[in-house]
Amino acid sequence: MKCDDAILRFMELDNRETLPLRVRFHMLRCRHCRQEIRSLRRILDEQLGASPFMLERDLSAPLQSYLRQSEVSYHREISYVKWLSVGVVILSGRILVTFSDTLAWLQDRFGSSLDIPLNIVLGLALSIYALCFIGTHIDELKKTIDLYFK
Ligand SMILES: [Zn+2]
Repeated sequence: MKCDDAILRFMELDNRETLPLRVRFHMLRCRHCRQEIRSLRRILDEQLGASPFMLERDLSAPLQSYLRQSEVSYHREISYVKWLSVGVVILSGRILVTFSDTLAWLQDRFGSSLDIPLNIVLGLALSIYALCFIGTHIDELKKTIDLYFK
């Protein structure tokens, strides 16, 4: 390990994370890096102990209540176009596999006993796709069901 790599690995560490073994070995051999990393650690420790400002009262409870009431969402939306295109790919794969040379070759080797496992695998892929779609859109589906059936 070179000196630049050792310093870079140290700088990539998160708060109080232990030094990787390779960096420790390098520090044993290299006096320059040992001093540099100790100096950087000392500076980081001083910065951790120093607070930029003091709060007069604890704001954690009001902040938690604000965050609970806010409608900030951390989940990613996947557009319907992407969902639909994945579904089309799966379905067209199911249809196109019947015309493939590889399937014909496999059927020559294994006979018609290949149909059941192939359909099980494709059925599982479709089921997993449908479960993922329903699971990620359960709120919208509830609203739609409420709209039409109540
Ligand atoms: Zn070094």
